[in-house]
Amino acid sequence: MTDLSGESIAIVGAGFGGLSAAAHLGDAGARVTVYEKGEHVGGVAGRIVEDGFQFDTGPSWYLMPELFERFFEQFGHEPAEFYELERLDPNYRVFWTDGDEAAVPADPEAAMELFESYEDGAGAKLEEYLDSAKHSYEVGMEEVVIPDRTDLTDYLDPRLALSARGLGLDLVRTMDGHAAKYFEHPKLRQLVEYTLVFLGGSPYNTPALYSLMSHVDYNLGVYYPHGGIAAVVDGVRTVAEEQGAQIETETPVTRIEPAASGLVVGTATDRTVYDRVVVNAPPAHAERDLLPEGAVDRSPERWKDQTYAPSAYMLYLGIEGELPEFDHHTLVLPTDWEPHFESIFEDPAWPDDPSYYVNVPSRTDPTVAPDGHETAVVLVPLAPGLADPPEQREQFREQILSGIAEHTGVDFRNRIVFERELSVSTGPLRTDHRAPGLDGLYYVGGDTNPGIGVPMCLLSGEHVTDIIREDTANRGRLSGLLS
Ligand SMILES: Cc1cc2nc3c(=O)[nH]c(=O)nc-3n(C[C@H](O)[C@H](O)[C@H](O)COP(=O)(O)OP(=O)(O)OC[C@H]3O[C@@H](n4cnc5c(N)ncnc54)[C@H](O)[C@@H]3O)c2cc1C
Repeated sequence: MTDLSGESIAIVGAGFGGLSAAAHLGDAGARVTVYEKGEHVGGVAGRIVEDGFQFDTGPSWYLMPELFERFFEQFGHEPAEFYELERLDPNYRVFWTDGDEAAVPADPEAAMELFESYEDGAGAKLEEYLDSAKHSYEVGMEEVVIPDRTDLTDYLDPRLALSARGLGLDLVRTMDGHAAKYFEHPKLRQLVEYTLVFLGGSPYNTPALYSLMSHVDYNLGVYYPHGGIAAVVDGVRTVAEEQGAQIETETPVTRIEPAASGLVVGTATDRTVYDRVVVNAPPAHAERDLLPEGAVDRSPERWKDQTYAPSAYMLYLGIEGELPEFDHHTLVLPTDWEPHFESIFEDPAWPDDPSYYVNVPSRTDPTVAPDGHETAVVLVPLAPGLADPPEQREQFREQILSGIAEHTGVDFRNRIVFERELSVSTGPLRTDHRAPGLDGLYYVGGDTNPGIGVPMCLLSGEHVTDIIREDTANRGRLSGLLS
């Protein structure tokens, strides 16, 4: 493999993708400097630590544990050196708005019993469904995700259906059409489709291949890293620093400019030339705000027309007393959730009857809340770009908290002792790792391949490193031919 000794590389942003790229590029021999505008590393995977409460502000589902193992093992470590991993059981609990509730067990056999209790024959059908999901996952990982087939990596991109013929995958049907082949009961369809609520698709516009997510939660399991996702961020940062990466927090990059040789990275106080720059910040930000006009072969207008994945309304709550009615992951779902998807994709609006998620990590990890308290995070997916004047937010907050009281039977409104609110945008669909038309500029993270999710961003750092090795080898060959 090409050695990157002698290459100087700047990374703009210390999200999971940026930190993973820092570790891999450092391991390949490059001199790596990471510029992070925030106070902490982790990006979307941020944290609030206040008054004895600790919140993960972004991701909270630890899925695909083998990809975390893969990351740490590449540097001679294992996850257990950084955090204790606990498999959750149940995977999650659902409260439906018609008063029904179900806990989805970690054991697939027990999950089959749960499905059978809703529909005759659905237990056996779940087994079949999960076999098909396992096939999609294994083929998808082996053929597309791990080898970085950048032409077909976005599971949510309908073009995948055209490109991946021949892999034996059902890509033509939608997720809902696929689930309907197995289950008639709408609640069972929801139990295999719910991840779409949070990952930027709808069961009506996402290819059936996405059913691989059911293999991820039902078969591979849902885990919790003690200390929260923040502990994973700390582990990845430690590895990047061990590989020699220098991390500068509170240092926003204000400019990236092509130079005679390499690229100049500008901050408020400094301008440094690097051989290459890897951007973990949103590509739209880099191309609109950091690069000179025309530096890449792509109009800044392009970003206007992108389909944006949903935003999220988030509440971080410290609650006095316990919340035994909640599991670590709890979903509240309307029995008919089509209007919710319409309010995100078809007719953007604040939803009247939203689907949402409540994370109570203190049910598993008492260290994230003071004694006798719980830490709760509420996440409601929304259409991007909705107007949100303060009175709209206040009204929505009340709608959600009274909804929780009504549908879970727990009214904790007068027990809230800590509260923060945030809106998070999950960004546009993907771009390639190589910036078009500008040698030496690359992208890494959830806005590029293989897509969103912490495990995917870790892989993205590995992929961008392979691409930089390839470009370095080609440059070496070219200069050999010219000399
Ligand atoms: C609310 C929410 C919940 C999620 N839940 C899950 C989950 O449960 N499980 C899961 O696996 N995934 C989840 N995801 C997805 C996952 O969190 C993301 O895909 C992943 O964390 C994104 O990482 P990234 O590498 O793209 O970098 P980002 O996290 O986007 O970080 C980019 C970094 O760039 C920095 N930056 C930007 N501009 C500049 C600049 N000019 N100069 C310097 N630095 C700059 C930013 O400060 C930031 O730190 C969730 C996402 C969201 C939004």
